[in-house]
Amino acid sequence: MNTIVMKFGGTSVANNEKLRNIAEIVTREVKNHKIVVVLSAMAGETNKLQSYLDEFGSKNSIESDLVLTSGEQVTIGLLSAALKNKGIKSIPLLGWQVPIITDESYEKAKILKVDNNRIEKYFKENDVIVLAGFQGININGKITSLGRGGSDTTAVAIASAIDAQRCDIYTDVEGVFTTDPNIEKNAKKISKLSFEEMLEMSSTGAKVLHTRSVELAMKNNLTLQVLSSLTQNTGTLIIDEEDLIEKEIVSGVSYSKNEAKVTISGILDKPGISAKIFGLMAENNINVDMIVQNISQDGIFANITFTINQKDHDLTKTVIENSEKILEYKSLSLDKNVAKISVIGMGMMSQSGVAEKMFKTLAKNAINILAISTSEIKISVLIDEKHTNIAVKSLHEVYNL
Ligand code: ADP
Ligand code: ASP
Ligand code: MG
Repeated sequence: MNTIVMKFGGTSVANNEKLRNIAEIVTREVKNHKIVVVLSAMAGETNKLQSYLDEFGSKNSIESDLVLTSGEQVTIGLLSAALKNKGIKSIPLLGWQVPIITDESYEKAKILKVDNNRIEKYFKENDVIVLAGFQGININGKITSLGRGGSDTTAVAIASAIDAQRCDIYTDVEGVFTTDPNIEKNAKKISKLSFEEMLEMSSTGAKVLHTRSVELAMKNNLTLQVLSSLTQNTGTLIIDEEDLIEKEIVSGVSYSKNEAKVTISGILDKPGISAKIFGLMAENNINVDMIVQNISQDGIFANITFTINQKDHDLTKTVIENSEKILEYKSLSLDKNVAKISVIGMGMMSQSGVAEKMFKTLAKNAINILAISTSEIKISVLIDEKHTNIAVKSLHEVYNL
């Protein structure tokens, strides 16, 4: 079957006029394909649902995922109605109706299986399936959500399951840019990017694609296209590294203000302390990112600094304070006013001097580096959040992006 997947994000489905526009885009493609359209909730809707839940302190629960996933039910129903108005045979489906089966964790469920037989059955009578993004059902029959921004992951999972010809991710910008075009007006659209680069960009803050959607696309070697629902220009192709002819030294700069810095001072400088600290973090499902350890002059005490997601700030504080007797530290401080800035590029693997350029540029702007982490194709630094814009702009300029 000649099928494609088209995913539209929150701003693209924000009202009936935008939904009519999507119905137009889908109509153009339906002549030649069977289509799975994956939708998000209207822009702002999931945030609103989250704020209702916050009032009852409901987190990671049956209730939170049932509420959070409800916005998508509205948009798929409306778009399917708009398509039927245009004479297109369409059916709206929620995640559980496919079913998209996930593991049992709430608010960050992982997809275990997508039943493609059911999709093929629905296509016998319909040309378009309008599928709710961001949701699934676990083996106990409970509704789950895939994590904020997770509709991209639904799109990739369904495209892989049905072996779709294309998976197009329509959004409010024309593709993946050298940095967030909403903070740097000189940012340029990138025509092709490797999965690895996109993975580093997403995981360091470029929310244009959900990180797990890129992981899944890379695993299944599924080419993704990111493009705008407002123009008809070509977007950005995310492809296998081997198909990328020109490898840029630096392809992009990303930032994340979602970080928090944790410093535990005056811990004993002896084997096993780090294992205890990070063991505690793992037990409590807290993801740790950058880690820096300083050993004091006397060789007895050390300080350890690491970063976590801001949403884990309160939990981390409680967990460490409750373990004061085990960890025997002198003081603990947490800081939410930090940001992580990253430069990413495949060419970094073979080219030296990228880090030096980054550190020099930050120094020239009097920006202090609080922590550093690297991978083969990425350098990240932690800085004071107030310097985010100037750091992004000056790095964007110095690497000629
Ligand atoms: P959608 O609702 O369509 O899923 P998102 O808001 O999740 O859209 O993602 C699109 C946004 O990602 C853009 O509006 C842009 O501000 C942001 N963004 C961050 N970094 C980048 C980048 N490097 N390229 C393109 N967009 C980016
Ligand atoms: N509506 C969900 C969210 O806002 C999923 C998505 O948009 O991808 O996070
Ligand atoms: Mg998104």
